[in-house]
Amino acid sequence: MGTVPAALAKHLDIKLSAEVHRIDMNDDGSVTLRIGSPAGQADLTADYVVLATPAPVTLRLLPNPESVLGKIVTDFLGSTRYVRNATTAVAYRTAPETRAYGVSVPTVLNHRLAAIGWDHLKGINRSPAGTGLGVMMPTNAHTDTLWERSKSEIGEDLIGAADELYPGSRAHVMFYRVQHWSHAMPLQAPGWARQLAQALAVKPNSPVFTCGDYWGGPNTEMALVSGERAAAQLLAAHKAKQLQHSL
Ligand SMILES: Cc1cc2nc3c(=O)[nH]c(=O)nc-3n(C[C@H](O)[C@H](O)[C@H](O)COP(=O)(O)OP(=O)(O)OC[C@H]3O[C@@H](n4cnc5c(N)ncnc54)[C@H](O)[C@@H]3O)c2cc1C
Repeated sequence: MGTVPAALAKHLDIKLSAEVHRIDMNDDGSVTLRIGSPAGQADLTADYVVLATPAPVTLRLLPNPESVLGKIVTDFLGSTRYVRNATTAVAYRTAPETRAYGVSVPTVLNHRLAAIGWDHLKGINRSPAGTGLGVMMPTNAHTDTLWERSKSEIGEDLIGAADELYPGSRAHVMFYRVQHWSHAMPLQAPGWARQLAQALAVKPNSPVFTCGDYWGGPNTEMALVSGERAAAQLLAAHKAKQLQHSL
């Protein structure tokens, strides 16, 4: 997962933990990002911008999205709906699971957890030898009951849910971290594919490009495919601009 950002970080100036508040188009064709970070506020002006944020965030960042993305793409982003998830990572002194890195809980069981990712099994050095790292993913219905509760209540609840599937595991918990993931998964309601096809057919006409899993489906492959598409669009726009300048 870290390979692409690690490769980029070798050649680019990367700013972490920076929240973009707003994006403005300038008269000379450049784009200014208004950024807030622990170090303070800053403006960053760029020739092109790729927004890899969830669809509602992307729309919120642009004061007039229709003038930047066009009506079809703006409507597509505006119609994108998400489910949220109270995803909670739990560190164990011992490894509750030793074989399956992904555990899906059948819906007929009506369990609080939809799935668990056992990250200590996903690769070496994910957690110290012998320890366990579980990513608890509550169902959408259970997330709704947890959302407003405190982080400690959510953590305790999901550690208890995992203990039902891995009896005794609760006693080995070292610490946990709860993440309120508001735009966890984009939904694909009837009519979505038609709207997507229309949006995909639009040729970008601004220096702002968009990507994210909502352009394909809720998984990292789709997010990556949409990022490649945005990169190709950006390069095409840049080549066209260079050609125009050379004429
Ligand atoms: C619980 C759970 C488990 C999953 N498991 C899998 C799995 O096993 N395999 C798989 O392929 N997929 C999985 N997925 C789906 C996968 O995580 C997503 O499809 C993928 O993360 C989408 O990537 P993205 O870049 O489109 O969006 P995100 O990963 O959501 O990235 C959007 C980024 O934008 C940032 N952001 C938002 N607003 C701003 C702002 N104003 N300024 C700056 N940055 C901002 C956010 O902090 C975030 O980092 C899972 C999803 C969930 C919820």
